[in-house]
Amino acid sequence: MHSVKGPSDVAEIRRANLALTLQTLDELAPCSRTDLRHATGLVSGSVSSLVDELVARGLVVEPGQTTSNGRGRPRRVLGLNPLRVVGVAVQLTPLEVIAEVRDLGGELRWQVRQPHGIRHGVSDDLVAALVDAALQAEAAAAQIAGAWVCGTVVGVPGPVASGRVLADSIEFGTPRTDLFEPLRERLPAGRDLVVMNDGRLGAVAEYSAIPPRERPRSMAYLTGGKGVSGGLIVAGMPHLGAHLMAGECGHISVAMDGPPCDCGARGCLTLYLGTDALFAATDLTTLAADRGQDVALVRLEERLAAGDADARTALDRAGRALASAIGTMSNYTDIDLVVLGGALPRLERWLLAPVTELLDARQERIPEFNPVVASARRGDGATLIGAWLLARQRLMADPSRVPLLGG
Ligand SMILES: [Zn+2]
Repeated sequence: MHSVKGPSDVAEIRRANLALTLQTLDELAPCSRTDLRHATGLVSGSVSSLVDELVARGLVVEPGQTTSNGRGRPRRVLGLNPLRVVGVAVQLTPLEVIAEVRDLGGELRWQVRQPHGIRHGVSDDLVAALVDAALQAEAAAAQIAGAWVCGTVVGVPGPVASGRVLADSIEFGTPRTDLFEPLRERLPAGRDLVVMNDGRLGAVAEYSAIPPRERPRSMAYLTGGKGVSGGLIVAGMPHLGAHLMAGECGHISVAMDGPPCDCGARGCLTLYLGTDALFAATDLTTLAADRGQDVALVRLEERLAAGDADARTALDRAGRALASAIGTMSNYTDIDLVVLGGALPRLERWLLAPVTELLDARQERIPEFNPVVASARRGDGATLIGAWLLARQRLMADPSRVPLLGG
């Protein structure tokens, strides 16, 4: 046990208090130093010194530095300066790569969407597409006057082990591919870099879309595309597990003697609920390949509405698989809320009967144990918003990374 605080302990405590002050100010702003003192429990002198440092780093503005909004006298308050920091978010989808630059306030400052032309099974194409988009966004971010670039968060479909390696990708047919190192080598030194499964990022975005007073303690996000992915929120934070793989709900096995899956198991949820599986069961695979997922999904909805037997059978099977996975997730994690995203909300009418049946049956036993099942609020933009939120969370956790103004 250490009884005396060494210089590194003191620096560490100062860094933690700086983060606490900024996070509290972010929640309360506009607020005064007194408000911060009450909310943080720090003593007055500390709060003043910490606020001074945040001002010196350009993260916080004081009266006189803000432009008046024209309503009455300016109040002696502190506010976050959303223009001081920008973050880069990159998303790879089956068809295109999207890169964005957003400031601390969430304002979109720059965006590019481009088809990536990744050839099936070619890892180099995949890496090159990500590096190219990230470098374009970094260059655009560096041009924004007065803004410091905090880092880049990349969301990709498929499991990303330990935040580095994209495992065998169903979407791109690539073998295990290191995404982290090639990006780290090419991006400017010192930038924060995160590579993560798109479902994990979507979970962060969906959780933040719930009004603060209504936010549950824990939430599972389940998003349907070619494959099924998702993420887990525990105590308000993403729960990532030992290798950043927690929340990989598409590979919950729902049939122990089901077909083999690329992950090595059998009967995974994605083999029933993923759009690849739904299209294969309804002869829409060729249409999806030729004209895209959306066109094929519209055709599938038309068939379902018309009572097509193959389509109804496929959706009923998918619904039972979904119910099985939700039951497993609930039993193992005791989540309050399950959010369905991606293509799932538009298929809910034909998907949810087995889920409702399961929840009704469980309701008779331990009613408080049942999670609420709801549709996603953010929709298609969830991955990019989640990437920005993660970059922001990491910045707020250590604002001492931001250089002093004029320094
Ligand atoms: Zn699997």
